[in-house]
Amino acid sequence: MAELEEMEAQSFREEARAWLRANFPPSLTNAPSIHFVSDRHAAESNPDWCLWRERMAAKRWGVPTWEPRYGGAGLTQAHGKIIGQELAAIGGFNPIRSYGTMMLGPTLLEYGSEEQKREHLPFIATNERRWCQGFSEPGAGSDLASLQTKCIDMGDHWLVSGQKIWTSGADQADWCFALVRTDASRKQGGISFLLIDMKSEGIEARPIVLISGSTHFCEVFFNDVKVPKGNLVGEVNQGWAIAKRLLQYERDSLSDVKAEITPLAPLAHQYCGTDVLGRIDNPDLRSRMVRNAMRHEAYLATVSRLAREAKSGGPGYGVSALKNLWSGIIQDRAELLIELMGASGLGWSGEHYTDAEREATRAWLHSKAFSIYGGSYEIQNNITAKRTLELPA
Ligand SMILES: Cc1cc2nc3c(=O)[nH]c(=O)nc-3n(C[C@H](O)[C@H](O)[C@H](O)COP(=O)(O)OP(=O)(O)OC[C@H]3O[C@@H](n4cnc5c(N)ncnc54)[C@H](O)[C@@H]3O)c2cc1C
Repeated sequence: MAELEEMEAQSFREEARAWLRANFPPSLTNAPSIHFVSDRHAAESNPDWCLWRERMAAKRWGVPTWEPRYGGAGLTQAHGKIIGQELAAIGGFNPIRSYGTMMLGPTLLEYGSEEQKREHLPFIATNERRWCQGFSEPGAGSDLASLQTKCIDMGDHWLVSGQKIWTSGADQADWCFALVRTDASRKQGGISFLLIDMKSEGIEARPIVLISGSTHFCEVFFNDVKVPKGNLVGEVNQGWAIAKRLLQYERDSLSDVKAEITPLAPLAHQYCGTDVLGRIDNPDLRSRMVRNAMRHEAYLATVSRLAREAKSGGPGYGVSALKNLWSGIIQDRAELLIELMGASGLGWSGEHYTDAEREATRAWLHSKAFSIYGGSYEIQNNITAKRTLELPA
């Protein structure tokens, strides 16, 4: 809390606690906020979620540190941290959190023109304008700079044609931040960063069904799509540096400690029973649960240490290691959850399974994606080896 005096911090904490308790709809307590982030229909068909979004947007606490002219509250990081802690304490979540706040917003603040910031940031700050990320292509995943989506300068507009894939929420998004090729003779040096209105003529988003049963992402086709000249972020052919920065923001948000973690122990007692000493009656599961909980605690301690040591300037290469640690913790946890449920942990459909059991199976399958999206596990290790440990290539 270096930026805040102890007394000021305490008084702000009390203010935040009182406001959040009075305004957070109790029906959303411990709701899996990730669903609301990735599934717009689920979010917007829930009146309490809409009310919560409206209240947080009016309070400007969804992006507390952004300047007021961009829709934020102009508060410090320390204030933002207190809001996050008080939200977590009541089982709440930030309804403004979206790809806009996690990825595009911070990137636009660094690289966008004043006009672009004023046009887009206030709508991100209220979560009214949903964004999707058009980076990956059928031939460009880990080797993202191989992307081929063509963007031609037509004088008064850009003309975009090509295909993106794995584009999360593209069928529900209003806008897309995309990487496009403006120079075929250079690899990284021929990429530009473009903002594309998803309502533009010539865009088709086709949902892909996942192993978990949901349709989280799409393939997106751009067929001669006209994009205004002013939608280019930064300079032409300078998009690679902007993309790398955005990916750091993405990885930082994916290893966000505020992501929900409900305790496993009460469930383990319920499903596995209790031994004579009052412990979970399965020594192997018990010890693996303890190991997972210890890794989680160690992770939280590391995140706070890094935050204390961090100089200003946002996330650095350390986020790659954190993302891998976090994915491992979440994946092990999802595995432990279905294991402790026994046969019920394989629930998919039917009245023999509770909602929680069916959800646990889906969450376990979905957890496999954690070490793929935002850059795979191996790629994060490569970045850590090269940039943090400075090992030879
Ligand atoms: C749920 C989900 C949501 C996603 N959402 C989006 C989105 O919204 N927008 C978007 O643009 N993309 C999105 N992605 C795509 C994601 O970024 C890519 O899947 C990821 O970057 C990996 O690319 P790939 O699938 O082409 O795998 P590949 O690059 O083909 O990799 C296959 C395997 O090879 C390994 N590998 C590749 N190169 C190396 C190397 N140099 N060293 C060591 N190992 C290597 C990888 O680690 C991986 O295990 C999403 C993916 C998932 C699963």
